[in-house]
Amino acid sequence: MKVMKFGGTSVGSPTRIKNVATLITTSGQPTFVVLSAMSGTTNTLIEIADYLYKKNPEGANEVINALERKYLEHIEELYSTEVYKQKTQQFLVEEFNYLRLFTKDLFTSFEEKCIVAQGEIISTTMMVNYLQEQGIKAVLLSALDFMRTDKNGEPNLPYIKEKLAEQMAANSEQQIYLTQGFICRNAYGEVDNLLRGGSDYTASLIGAALPAEEIVIWTDIDGMHNNDPRVVDDTEAVEQLNFEEAAELAYFGAKILHPTCVQPAKYAGIPVRLKNTLEPDADGTLINNTIKQGEIKAVAAKDNIVAIKIKSSRMLLATGFLRKVFEIFESYQTPIDMIATSEVGVSMSIDDDSHLDEIVNDLMKFGTVTVDRDMCIICVVGDLAWSNVGFETLALDAMRHIPVRMISYGGSNYNISFLVKASDKKKALQSLSDMLFHHQEVE
Ligand code: ASP
Ligand code: MG
Repeated sequence: MKVMKFGGTSVGSPTRIKNVATLITTSGQPTFVVLSAMSGTTNTLIEIADYLYKKNPEGANEVINALERKYLEHIEELYSTEVYKQKTQQFLVEEFNYLRLFTKDLFTSFEEKCIVAQGEIISTTMMVNYLQEQGIKAVLLSALDFMRTDKNGEPNLPYIKEKLAEQMAANSEQQIYLTQGFICRNAYGEVDNLLRGGSDYTASLIGAALPAEEIVIWTDIDGMHNNDPRVVDDTEAVEQLNFEEAAELAYFGAKILHPTCVQPAKYAGIPVRLKNTLEPDADGTLINNTIKQGEIKAVAAKDNIVAIKIKSSRMLLATGFLRKVFEIFESYQTPIDMIATSEVGVSMSIDDDSHLDEIVNDLMKFGTVTVDRDMCIICVVGDLAWSNVGFETLALDAMRHIPVRMISYGGSNYNISFLVKASDKKKALQSLSDMLFHHQEVE
C-alpha cells in the first residue's frame, strides 16, 4: 500500500480537494491518505487561541465566525447531493460550536492544542464525505486513536504500529484509508500535535508503521531541484536522492521537506517520493537508501551566515583550546554550522547572530578575533565518500573565480561546503551548475 500526503495548499479549495480525490483513486489500489488542514486554517486557529490567551473572547468569536462562513461556503461547490450537503453542514456547525465552547472557559495550552487539532479534523471529514458521495469505499481513521508521542514528546512507534494494525484489521476492504496529519495524543492521552508542518512526519510514521511500499509527499513543486530555482535559471528536479543527501538539501534550505520528518521512513527503508499535484505524471524526486556511486546530485545555499575566526599562538600544541572556544558558543545557545581549523586558529560559521557581540567579546580573551558578515554557505551534495576521487577538483574548479573564505569536507560523506560572500552566491551557484550538471567550462 502507498501512503500519500497532501499539504494545506493541495487541499486549499473545493477544486483542489476534488483534484486530490482524483489523484488518490486513479490507480484503483488501496491507498492510505494523510491530509493537512486547508491552507491558512492552522494559522487562523492559532489566532483564535491567541485571543483567548489574551482574555478576549469577542476577538476569538469574530475569527471563529469568519472561519465558519468560509467553510460553509465550500459546501455548495464541493458536494452535489442534498444528503452530503446536509451531512457536512451539520458536521461543520457542530465543529464551530465546539470551538465556541473554548471562549467561555479557562484557557491553557491544553485547550490550545484541542483548537489547533480541528483544522485537520475538518479537512479529512470534508474529504471522506466527498469520496463517499462519489461512491468510493473510503474510511476516516482518527489519528487520535493511533498516533502517540511518549514522555519525551517523541513518536511512540511500537504503539502506533500496534494501534494502526488494529484499525486496519477492523476496516478491511476499503479503497481509501484517510487520516489527519499533524495531530496525535501525548503520553498522557491528551490531544497534542507533532509541531508545525508535522503532517510530513505523520506520513513518514504511518509509512514505517504499516509498513508501506512507498510514501508520496504531494506538493506544488516537482521535487527537489539540483540548484536553487530562485537564483539559477536552468535547474531541474533531481530524480533520486539518498536519505542523507535529501537531509543535507533540506537543511540547506529546500523547504519542501523537513530533514527530521523522513527519519522514520529512512530507518524502515521505505522510499519517499516528492510529487507535484499540478504535474502528477512527472516522476518527481525519489528518496531512498540507494547510493549512486560518485554522483553529484545538487547544489544549495544557505544565507545570512557570519564567519568568526580566532587566531592564537596558544592554540599551538595546546589541549582544551577548542573546548573553551565551543563553550562560549554554547553559553549563548548559538549553534556552529561550519568549522575549519589550522594549527594556530579556527574559523567557524553561525547563522544566528543574535549574540554575536557577546561571543566576540568572550572569544577575545583567547586570541585575535575577526568577523566577516553577509556570507553564505554553498554546499555540493552527492556521494562524496573520500574513496571517490576527483569531485573536490571539480567543485573547486567551478569556484576558481570566487573568493572562498572557508572550505569544509569530511564531516559527512555527502557534502562539501564553501563559505563565500553573499554577493558571490549567484555566481557560485551558476558556476557549479554549469560545471557539475551541464559539463560546461567556467570562464
Ligand atoms: N496544519 C499544520 C500546519 O500548518 C500541519 C501541516 O500542515 O503539516 O503546520
Ligand atoms: Mg508542509
